[in-house]
Amino acid sequence: MNPSPYASTHAGSSSLAGTHTLPSYLNADHLGPWGIYLQQVDRVIPYLGSLARWAETLKRPKRALIVDIPIQLDNGTVAHFEGYRVQHNTSRGPGKGGVRFHQDVTLSEVMALSAWMSIKNAAVNVPFGGAKGGIRVDPKTLSIGELERVTRRYTSEIGIIIGPSKDIPAPDVNTNEKIMAWMMDTYSMNEGATATGVVTGKPIDLGGSLGRREATGRGVFTVGCEAAKRIGLDIPSARIAVQGFGNVGGIAAKLFAQAGSRVVAVQDHSGTIYQESGLDVSALLNHVARTGGVHGFAAAQALIDDQFWDVPCDILIPAALEGQITAANAHRIQAKMIIEGANGPTTPQADDILEDRHILVLPDVIANAGGVTVSYFEWVQDFSSFFWTEDEINARLVRIMQDAFGAIWQVAQDHHVSLRTATFIVACKRILHSREMRGLYP
Ligand code: GLU
Repeated sequence: MNPSPYASTHAGSSSLAGTHTLPSYLNADHLGPWGIYLQQVDRVIPYLGSLARWAETLKRPKRALIVDIPIQLDNGTVAHFEGYRVQHNTSRGPGKGGVRFHQDVTLSEVMALSAWMSIKNAAVNVPFGGAKGGIRVDPKTLSIGELERVTRRYTSEIGIIIGPSKDIPAPDVNTNEKIMAWMMDTYSMNEGATATGVVTGKPIDLGGSLGRREATGRGVFTVGCEAAKRIGLDIPSARIAVQGFGNVGGIAAKLFAQAGSRVVAVQDHSGTIYQESGLDVSALLNHVARTGGVHGFAAAQALIDDQFWDVPCDILIPAALEGQITAANAHRIQAKMIIEGANGPTTPQADDILEDRHILVLPDVIANAGGVTVSYFEWVQDFSSFFWTEDEINARLVRIMQDAFGAIWQVAQDHHVSLRTATFIVACKRILHSREMRGLYP
Protein backbone atom coordinates (compact mmCIF):
# COMPACT_ATOMS: atom_id res chain seq x y z
CA MET A 1 0.00 0.00 0.00
CA ASN A 2 1.21 3.58 -0.59
CA PRO A 3 2.94 5.12 2.39
CA SER A 4 0.90 7.96 3.82
CA PRO A 5 2.21 11.22 2.38
CA TYR A 6 1.43 12.78 5.74
CA ALA A 7 3.68 10.64 7.86
CA SER A 8 6.31 13.30 8.27
CA THR A 9 4.51 16.56 7.54
CA HIS A 10 3.04 18.93 10.07
CA ALA A 11 2.35 21.55 7.42
CA GLY A 12 -1.01 22.50 8.83
CA SER A 13 -0.16 22.89 12.47
CA SER A 14 1.16 26.40 11.88
CA SER A 15 -2.48 27.49 11.75
CA LEU A 16 -2.63 26.99 15.50
CA ALA A 17 -0.41 30.04 15.68
CA GLY A 18 -2.94 32.03 13.70
CA THR A 19 -1.91 31.55 10.08
CA HIS A 20 -2.61 28.95 7.44
CA THR A 21 -0.34 30.36 4.76
CA LEU A 22 1.65 27.50 3.31
CA PRO A 23 5.18 27.72 1.97
CA SER A 24 5.03 27.99 -1.84
CA TYR A 25 7.27 24.95 -2.32
CA LEU A 26 4.53 22.69 -0.98
CA ASN A 27 2.34 21.56 -3.85
CA ALA A 28 -1.29 20.59 -3.35
CA ASP A 29 -0.44 16.93 -2.98
CA HIS A 30 1.67 17.75 0.06
CA LEU A 31 -0.52 20.18 1.94
CA GLY A 32 -0.95 17.79 4.82
CA PRO A 33 -4.44 16.92 6.05
CA TRP A 34 -5.10 20.23 7.82
CA GLY A 35 -3.87 22.18 4.76
CA ILE A 36 -6.20 20.12 2.57
CA TYR A 37 -9.14 20.85 4.86
CA LEU A 38 -8.40 24.61 4.81
CA GLN A 39 -8.35 24.54 1.02
CA GLN A 40 -11.71 22.74 1.00
CA VAL A 41 -13.18 25.46 3.24
CA ASP A 42 -11.78 28.23 1.03
CA ARG A 43 -13.55 26.69 -1.95
CA VAL A 44 -16.99 27.07 -0.32
CA ILE A 45 -16.67 30.58 1.10
CA PRO A 46 -18.05 32.19 -2.11
CA TYR A 47 -21.27 30.17 -1.64
CA LEU A 48 -21.92 31.11 1.99
CA GLY A 49 -23.49 34.54 1.45
CA SER A 50 -23.63 36.63 4.62
CA LEU A 51 -22.59 33.62 6.73
CA ALA A 52 -19.10 33.98 5.22
CA ARG A 53 -18.57 36.54 7.99
CA TRP A 54 -18.24 33.63 10.41
CA ALA A 55 -16.10 31.39 8.19
CA GLU A 56 -12.94 31.93 10.23
CA THR A 57 -14.64 29.82 12.93
CA LEU A 58 -14.20 26.81 10.65
CA LYS A 59 -10.50 27.46 10.14
CA ARG A 60 -9.36 26.89 13.68
CA PRO A 61 -10.22 24.14 16.15
CA LYS A 62 -12.15 25.24 19.21
CA ARG A 63 -9.93 23.23 21.54
CA ALA A 64 -6.93 20.88 21.13
CA LEU A 65 -5.48 18.80 23.92
CA ILE A 66 -2.11 17.01 23.72
CA VAL A 67 -1.52 14.41 26.42
CA ASP A 68 1.41 12.32 27.56
CA ILE A 69 0.53 8.67 28.09
CA PRO A 70 3.10 6.84 30.22
CA ILE A 71 2.52 3.12 30.74
CA GLN A 72 4.46 0.25 32.20
CA LEU A 73 5.33 -2.29 29.50
CA ASP A 74 5.21 -6.02 30.21
CA ASN A 75 9.02 -6.08 30.46
CA GLY A 76 8.91 -3.64 33.39
CA THR A 77 10.14 -0.53 31.53
CA VAL A 78 8.09 2.64 31.13
CA ALA A 79 7.10 3.88 27.65
CA HIS A 80 5.57 7.26 26.76
CA PHE A 81 3.09 7.80 23.93
CA GLU A 82 1.62 11.04 22.64
CA GLY A 83 -2.17 11.36 22.45
CA TYR A 84 -4.56 14.01 21.17
CA ARG A 85 -8.19 15.02 21.43
CA VAL A 86 -9.30 17.90 19.24
CA GLN A 87 -12.76 19.49 19.40
CA HIS A 88 -13.09 21.37 16.15
CA ASN A 89 -16.55 22.84 16.58
CA THR A 90 -19.41 22.48 19.06
CA SER A 91 -21.88 25.02 17.67
CA ARG A 92 -24.49 22.36 16.83
CA GLY A 93 -23.96 20.05 19.81
CA PRO A 94 -21.30 18.08 21.69
CA GLY A 95 -18.09 17.10 19.94
CA LYS A 96 -18.30 13.70 18.23
CA GLY A 97 -15.76 11.57 16.44
CA GLY A 98 -13.54 8.54 16.68
CA VAL A 99 -10.18 7.75 18.22
CA ARG A 100 -7.42 6.17 16.13
CA PHE A 101 -4.34 4.29 17.23
CA HIS A 102 -1.66 4.52 14.55
CA GLN A 103 2.08 5.06 14.39
CA ASP A 104 1.68 7.99 11.94
CA VAL A 105 -0.91 9.99 13.94
CA THR A 106 -0.02 13.71 14.10
CA LEU A 107 -1.77 16.75 15.55
CA SER A 108 -2.31 18.08 12.00
CA GLU A 109 -4.06 14.86 11.05
CA VAL A 110 -6.30 14.80 14.14
CA MET A 111 -7.19 18.48 13.59
CA ALA A 112 -8.27 17.73 10.02
CA LEU A 113 -10.17 14.61 11.03
CA SER A 114 -12.00 16.58 13.76
CA ALA A 115 -12.96 19.24 11.22
CA TRP A 116 -14.20 16.62 8.75
CA MET A 117 -16.38 15.27 11.60
CA SER A 118 -17.95 18.75 12.00
CA ILE A 119 -18.73 18.76 8.27
CA LYS A 120 -19.96 15.15 8.24
CA ASN A 121 -22.24 15.54 11.27
CA ALA A 122 -23.76 18.70 9.82
CA ALA A 123 -24.13 17.08 6.37
CA VAL A 124 -26.36 14.32 7.78
CA ASN A 125 -27.87 16.82 10.24
CA VAL A 126 -27.19 14.91 13.45
CA PRO A 127 -26.98 17.29 16.44
CA PHE A 128 -23.24 17.02 17.01
CA GLY A 129 -20.17 19.15 16.50
CA GLY A 130 -16.91 17.61 15.35
CA ALA A 131 -14.07 16.08 17.33
CA LYS A 132 -11.38 13.43 16.91
CA GLY A 133 -8.69 11.78 18.93
CA GLY A 134 -5.64 9.66 18.39
CA ILE A 135 -2.57 8.11 19.92
CA ARG A 136 0.71 7.84 18.03
CA VAL A 137 1.28 4.14 18.63
CA ASP A 138 1.38 1.00 16.52
CA PRO A 139 -1.08 -1.17 18.46
CA LYS A 140 0.32 -4.30 16.78
CA THR A 141 3.47 -3.86 18.89
CA LEU A 142 1.52 -3.91 22.18
CA SER A 143 0.34 -6.88 24.22
CA ILE A 144 -3.33 -6.92 25.16
CA GLY A 145 -2.45 -5.71 28.67
CA GLU A 146 -0.33 -2.85 27.30
CA LEU A 147 -3.14 -1.89 24.91
CA GLU A 148 -5.57 -1.73 27.83
CA ARG A 149 -3.19 0.41 29.90
CA VAL A 150 -2.60 2.84 26.99
CA THR A 151 -6.35 3.11 26.42
CA ARG A 152 -7.20 3.68 30.07
CA ARG A 153 -4.48 6.27 30.70
CA TYR A 154 -5.41 8.13 27.49
CA THR A 155 -9.09 8.14 28.52
CA SER A 156 -8.24 9.40 31.97
CA GLU A 157 -6.05 12.19 30.51
CA ILE A 158 -8.72 13.39 28.05
CA GLY A 159 -11.41 12.90 30.74
CA ILE A 160 -11.25 16.61 31.50
CA ILE A 161 -12.85 17.46 28.15
CA ILE A 162 -14.99 14.44 27.17
CA GLY A 163 -18.40 13.38 28.53
CA PRO A 164 -21.85 12.31 27.29
CA SER A 165 -22.90 15.91 26.71
CA LYS A 166 -19.45 17.36 25.97
CA ASP A 167 -17.61 15.13 23.52
CA ILE A 168 -18.29 11.48 22.66
CA PRO A 169 -15.45 9.33 21.21
CA ALA A 170 -16.01 6.24 19.05
CA PRO A 171 -13.97 3.66 17.11
CA ASP A 172 -11.79 4.64 14.16
CA VAL A 173 -8.63 3.15 12.60
CA ASN A 174 -7.33 0.28 14.82
CA THR A 175 -9.86 0.82 17.62
CA ASN A 176 -12.90 -1.35 18.31
CA GLU A 177 -15.68 -2.39 20.71
CA LYS A 178 -13.27 -3.77 23.30
CA ILE A 179 -11.35 -0.47 23.43
CA MET A 180 -14.65 1.44 23.72
CA ALA A 181 -15.61 -0.78 26.69
CA TRP A 182 -12.33 0.13 28.46
CA MET A 183 -12.88 3.82 27.68
CA MET A 184 -16.42 3.71 29.03
CA ASP A 185 -15.26 1.91 32.17
CA THR A 186 -12.33 4.27 32.83
CA TYR A 187 -14.47 7.38 32.43
CA SER A 188 -17.21 5.83 34.61
CA MET A 189 -14.73 4.87 37.35
CA ASN A 190 -13.40 8.42 37.46
CA GLU A 191 -16.94 9.85 37.55
CA GLY A 192 -18.19 7.37 40.15
CA ALA A 193 -21.18 6.38 38.00
CA THR A 194 -21.67 4.24 34.91
CA ALA A 195 -21.88 6.58 31.92
CA THR A 196 -22.69 4.48 28.87
CA GLY A 197 -23.23 7.58 26.70
CA VAL A 198 -19.60 8.75 26.92
CA VAL A 199 -18.52 6.64 23.92
CA THR A 200 -20.31 4.94 21.04
CA GLY A 201 -19.40 1.78 19.17
CA LYS A 202 -19.56 -0.18 22.45
CA PRO A 203 -20.36 -3.89 22.77
CA ILE A 204 -24.12 -4.53 22.53
CA ASP A 205 -24.28 -5.73 26.16
CA LEU A 206 -22.77 -2.46 27.41
CA GLY A 207 -25.21 -0.06 25.77
CA GLY A 208 -23.99 -0.54 22.20
CA SER A 209 -26.38 -0.37 19.27
CA LEU A 210 -27.41 -3.09 16.89
CA GLY A 211 -26.23 -2.25 13.40
CA ARG A 212 -23.38 0.04 14.53
CA ARG A 213 -20.60 -2.25 13.39
CA GLU A 214 -21.98 -2.48 9.86
CA ALA A 215 -23.25 1.11 9.70
CA THR A 216 -20.36 2.79 7.85
CA GLY A 217 -20.29 0.09 5.16
CA ARG A 218 -24.09 0.21 4.86
CA GLY A 219 -23.92 3.98 4.42
CA VAL A 220 -21.25 3.60 1.70
CA PHE A 221 -23.51 1.12 -0.10
CA THR A 222 -26.60 3.34 0.31
CA VAL A 223 -25.04 6.50 -1.15
CA GLY A 224 -23.37 4.40 -3.85
CA CYS A 225 -26.79 3.12 -4.97
CA GLU A 226 -28.30 6.62 -4.83
CA ALA A 227 -25.52 8.06 -6.99
CA ALA A 228 -25.58 5.08 -9.38
CA LYS A 229 -29.31 5.69 -10.04
CA ARG A 230 -28.58 9.29 -10.95
CA ILE A 231 -25.74 8.55 -13.39
CA GLY A 232 -27.30 5.42 -14.92
CA LEU A 233 -24.80 2.96 -13.47
CA ASP A 234 -26.29 -0.51 -13.08
CA ILE A 235 -25.34 -1.91 -9.65
CA PRO A 236 -26.06 -5.61 -10.45
CA SER A 237 -23.57 -5.52 -13.34
CA ALA A 238 -21.01 -3.21 -11.69
CA ARG A 239 -17.40 -4.26 -11.02
CA ILE A 240 -16.06 -3.09 -7.66
CA ALA A 241 -12.50 -2.54 -6.40
CA VAL A 242 -12.01 -2.03 -2.66
CA GLN A 243 -8.99 -0.77 -0.74
CA GLY A 244 -9.22 -1.78 2.91
CA PHE A 245 -11.20 -4.84 3.93
CA GLY A 246 -12.08 -4.10 7.54
CA ASN A 247 -15.21 -2.74 9.09
CA VAL A 248 -15.92 -0.37 6.19
CA GLY A 249 -14.53 -1.99 3.02
CA GLY A 250 -15.46 -5.53 4.02
CA ILE A 251 -19.09 -4.69 4.82
CA ALA A 252 -19.49 -2.45 1.75
CA ALA A 253 -18.07 -5.24 -0.46
CA LYS A 254 -20.50 -7.73 1.10
CA LEU A 255 -23.52 -5.49 0.48
CA PHE A 256 -22.51 -4.75 -3.13
CA ALA A 257 -21.94 -8.47 -3.76
CA GLN A 258 -25.38 -9.25 -2.29
CA ALA A 259 -26.84 -6.70 -4.73
CA GLY A 260 -25.24 -8.67 -7.60
CA SER A 261 -22.09 -6.59 -8.20
CA ARG A 262 -18.78 -8.31 -8.89
CA VAL A 263 -16.06 -7.44 -6.37
CA VAL A 264 -13.06 -7.87 -8.68
CA ALA A 265 -10.16 -6.49 -6.62
CA VAL A 266 -9.32 -6.03 -2.95
CA GLN A 267 -6.22 -4.47 -1.44
CA ASP A 268 -5.27 -4.37 2.22
CA HIS A 269 -2.09 -4.12 4.35
CA SER A 270 -1.22 -7.73 3.41
CA GLY A 271 -1.46 -7.44 -0.37
CA THR A 272 -3.67 -7.07 -3.45
CA ILE A 273 -5.88 -9.73 -5.02
CA TYR A 274 -7.85 -9.80 -8.29
CA GLN A 275 -10.49 -12.04 -9.80
CA GLU A 276 -12.16 -10.86 -13.01
CA SER A 277 -15.23 -13.05 -12.54
CA GLY A 278 -15.75 -11.68 -9.02
CA LEU A 279 -14.35 -12.74 -5.65
CA ASP A 280 -16.39 -14.87 -3.26
CA VAL A 281 -16.78 -12.10 -0.65
CA SER A 282 -18.10 -14.35 2.16
CA ALA A 283 -15.19 -16.75 1.70
CA LEU A 284 -12.77 -13.81 1.62
CA LEU A 285 -14.24 -12.37 4.84
CA ASN A 286 -13.69 -15.77 6.50
CA HIS A 287 -10.13 -15.92 5.15
CA VAL A 288 -9.38 -12.43 6.53
CA ALA A 289 -10.92 -13.29 9.91
CA ARG A 290 -8.68 -16.38 10.04
CA THR A 291 -5.39 -15.04 8.64
CA GLY A 292 -5.59 -11.27 9.26
CA GLY A 293 -5.41 -10.18 5.59
CA VAL A 294 -6.41 -10.91 1.99
CA HIS A 295 -2.94 -12.27 1.12
CA GLY A 296 -2.97 -15.95 0.26
CA PHE A 297 -6.67 -16.15 -0.67
CA ALA A 298 -6.68 -19.14 -2.99
CA ALA A 299 -9.46 -18.25 -5.45
CA ALA A 300 -7.75 -15.11 -6.76
CA GLN A 301 -4.70 -13.83 -8.57
CA ALA A 302 -2.14 -11.85 -6.54
CA LEU A 303 -1.21 -8.43 -7.97
CA ILE A 304 1.65 -6.17 -7.00
CA ASP A 305 0.19 -3.36 -4.90
CA ASP A 306 0.66 -0.58 -7.44
CA GLN A 307 -1.37 -2.48 -10.08
CA PHE A 308 -4.48 -1.94 -7.95
CA TRP A 309 -4.92 1.52 -9.50
CA ASP A 310 -5.13 0.11 -13.07
CA VAL A 311 -7.78 -2.52 -12.35
CA PRO A 312 -10.75 -2.34 -14.75
CA CYS A 313 -13.73 -1.51 -12.52
CA ASP A 314 -16.85 0.68 -12.36
CA ILE A 315 -16.75 1.62 -8.68
CA LEU A 316 -13.62 2.18 -6.58
CA ILE A 317 -14.00 2.24 -2.80
CA PRO A 318 -10.96 3.57 -0.90
CA ALA A 319 -11.72 2.41 2.64
CA ALA A 320 -8.32 2.51 4.35
CA LEU A 321 -6.24 5.57 5.22
CA GLU A 322 -5.86 9.15 3.98
CA GLY A 323 -3.84 10.28 0.99
CA GLN A 324 -4.19 7.17 -1.17
CA ILE A 325 -5.52 8.73 -4.40
CA THR A 326 -2.92 11.30 -5.45
CA ALA A 327 -1.74 13.14 -8.56
CA ALA A 328 0.51 10.12 -9.15
CA ASN A 329 -2.30 7.59 -9.63
CA ALA A 330 -5.54 9.56 -10.27
CA HIS A 331 -5.03 9.48 -14.06
CA ARG A 332 -4.82 5.66 -14.01
CA ILE A 333 -8.11 4.99 -12.25
CA GLN A 334 -10.65 3.34 -14.54
CA ALA A 335 -13.75 3.59 -12.32
CA LYS A 336 -16.77 5.72 -13.19
CA MET A 337 -17.42 6.45 -9.53
CA ILE A 338 -15.34 6.60 -6.34
CA ILE A 339 -17.00 6.16 -2.95
CA GLU A 340 -14.78 7.42 -0.14
CA GLY A 341 -15.21 4.98 2.74
CA ALA A 342 -12.00 6.28 4.36
CA ASN A 343 -11.56 9.79 5.68
CA GLY A 344 -9.48 12.00 3.36
CA PRO A 345 -8.36 9.34 0.83
CA THR A 346 -8.15 11.80 -2.12
CA THR A 347 -5.76 14.77 -2.29
CA PRO A 348 -7.11 18.04 -3.78
CA GLN A 349 -4.83 17.64 -6.83
CA ALA A 350 -6.22 14.18 -7.43
CA ASP A 351 -9.76 15.54 -6.92
CA ASP A 352 -9.19 18.01 -9.77
CA ILE A 353 -7.78 15.30 -12.06
CA LEU A 354 -10.78 13.05 -11.34
CA GLU A 355 -13.19 15.91 -12.00
CA ASP A 356 -11.51 16.64 -15.35
CA ARG A 357 -11.82 12.95 -16.20
CA HIS A 358 -15.54 13.00 -15.27
CA ILE A 359 -15.09 10.41 -12.54
CA LEU A 360 -17.76 11.03 -9.90
CA VAL A 361 -16.38 11.24 -6.35
CA LEU A 362 -18.77 10.63 -3.43
CA PRO A 363 -16.81 12.42 -0.71
CA ASP A 364 -15.99 10.98 2.71
CA VAL A 365 -18.00 13.67 4.50
CA ILE A 366 -21.22 12.13 3.20
CA ALA A 367 -20.15 8.67 1.95
CA ASN A 368 -18.86 7.38 5.29
CA ALA A 369 -21.33 9.25 7.53
CA GLY A 370 -23.32 6.05 8.22
CA GLY A 371 -21.06 5.19 11.16
CA VAL A 372 -21.59 8.39 13.06
CA THR A 373 -25.29 8.35 12.18
CA VAL A 374 -25.75 5.06 14.02
CA SER A 375 -23.43 6.40 16.75
CA TYR A 376 -26.05 9.12 17.17
CA PHE A 377 -28.75 6.42 17.47
CA GLU A 378 -26.59 4.62 20.06
CA TRP A 379 -26.16 7.81 22.10
CA VAL A 380 -29.92 8.49 21.99
CA GLN A 381 -30.67 4.89 23.05
CA ASP A 382 -28.18 5.16 25.95
CA PHE A 383 -29.79 8.39 27.19
CA SER A 384 -33.28 6.88 27.11
CA SER A 385 -32.15 3.35 28.12
CA PHE A 386 -34.55 2.09 25.48
CA PHE A 387 -33.13 0.03 22.65
CA TRP A 388 -34.33 -0.27 19.07
CA THR A 389 -34.47 -3.27 16.74
CA GLU A 390 -31.87 -3.71 14.01
CA ASP A 391 -34.56 -3.22 11.35
CA GLU A 392 -35.55 0.12 12.88
CA ILE A 393 -31.93 1.22 12.99
CA ASN A 394 -31.15 0.20 9.41
CA ALA A 395 -34.35 1.78 8.08
CA ARG A 396 -33.63 5.09 9.85
CA LEU A 397 -29.99 5.01 8.69
CA VAL A 398 -30.95 4.44 5.05
CA ARG A 399 -33.56 7.21 5.18
CA ILE A 400 -31.11 9.75 6.65
CA MET A 401 -28.39 8.85 4.13
CA GLN A 402 -30.77 8.99 1.16
CA ASP A 403 -32.26 12.33 2.21
CA ALA A 404 -28.87 13.89 2.94
CA PHE A 405 -27.42 12.64 -0.34
CA GLY A 406 -30.44 13.87 -2.32
CA ALA A 407 -30.12 17.38 -0.86
CA ILE A 408 -26.37 17.48 -1.57
CA TRP A 409 -26.86 16.21 -5.13
CA GLN A 410 -29.33 19.05 -5.72
CA VAL A 411 -26.88 21.69 -4.42
CA ALA A 412 -24.18 20.26 -6.71
CA GLN A 413 -26.54 20.55 -9.70
CA ASP A 414 -27.69 24.06 -8.76
CA HIS A 415 -24.18 25.47 -8.33
CA HIS A 416 -22.34 23.26 -10.87
CA VAL A 417 -19.88 22.16 -8.20
CA SER A 418 -18.43 18.80 -7.12
CA LEU A 419 -20.25 16.72 -4.53
CA ARG A 420 -17.43 17.53 -2.07
CA THR A 421 -17.97 21.25 -2.45
CA ALA A 422 -21.75 20.74 -2.31
CA THR A 423 -21.45 18.77 0.94
CA PHE A 424 -19.25 21.51 2.40
CA ILE A 425 -21.77 24.16 1.32
CA VAL A 426 -24.68 22.36 3.04
CA ALA A 427 -22.66 21.58 6.18
CA CYS A 428 -20.86 24.91 6.56
CA LYS A 429 -24.15 26.80 6.21
CA ARG A 430 -25.69 24.70 9.00
CA ILE A 431 -22.68 25.14 11.30
CA LEU A 432 -22.33 28.86 10.68
CA HIS A 433 -26.06 29.48 10.98
CA SER A 434 -25.94 27.89 14.45
CA ARG A 435 -22.86 29.96 15.21
CA GLU A 436 -24.63 33.16 14.21
CA MET A 437 -27.82 32.38 16.16
CA ARG A 438 -25.82 31.58 19.30
CA GLY A 439 -23.81 34.78 18.99
CA LEU A 440 -20.51 35.62 20.60
CA TYR A 441 -19.83 35.13 24.30
CA PRO A 442 -19.21 37.32 26.25
N1 GLU B 1 -14.72 7.09 13.20
C1 GLU B 1 -15.95 7.20 12.46
C2 GLU B 1 -15.89 8.35 11.48
O1 GLU B 1 -14.83 8.77 11.08
C3 GLU B 1 -17.16 7.24 13.39
C4 GLU B 1 -17.16 8.37 14.38
C5 GLU B 1 -18.31 8.26 15.39
O2 GLU B 1 -19.11 7.34 15.32
O3 GLU B 1 -18.34 9.14 16.25
O4 GLU B 1 -16.89 8.82 11.02
